[in-house]
Amino acid sequence: MHCPFCGANDTKVIDSRLVADGHQVRRRRQCLACNERYTTFETAELVMPRVIKTNGNREPFNEDKLSGGIQRALEKRPVSTDDIERAINNIKSQLRATGEREVPSEMVGNLVMEALKELDKVAYIRFASVYRSFEDIREFGEEIAKLEK
Ligand SMILES: [Zn+2]
Repeated sequence: MHCPFCGANDTKVIDSRLVADGHQVRRRRQCLACNERYTTFETAELVMPRVIKTNGNREPFNEDKLSGGIQRALEKRPVSTDDIERAINNIKSQLRATGEREVPSEMVGNLVMEALKELDKVAYIRFASVYRSFEDIREFGEEIAKLEK
């Protein structure tokens, strides 16, 4: 980053340490041009991207909605709450890892399908049949056939 004193490009890190229980990195930097020292703090950005719906509307990421959809698909299926929570956290970290400020709702749907495919095939088919709204019974059968491979 540019030196806040003289605007030079070249600064070097002279000290780096974890602070705030390891959730933050504190760096002492020195400007190679004017020798001034300053401190920067680095934290992970945990903000979820917003979701772009198919009609183009943007809405904040809604974890309740995500977990509601997953729970509905898994109703009366032998999958533990721990596994469900792990799947939800996994989806959230994949969305954050995109580094995007907005992601299409389709991407969220596909991540849910991938997660359900791992968790429970029946739930996967349930979710896919609603989400993809299969045109006919043949398409539905094809999806099931793919699972059996
Ligand atoms: Zn400087």
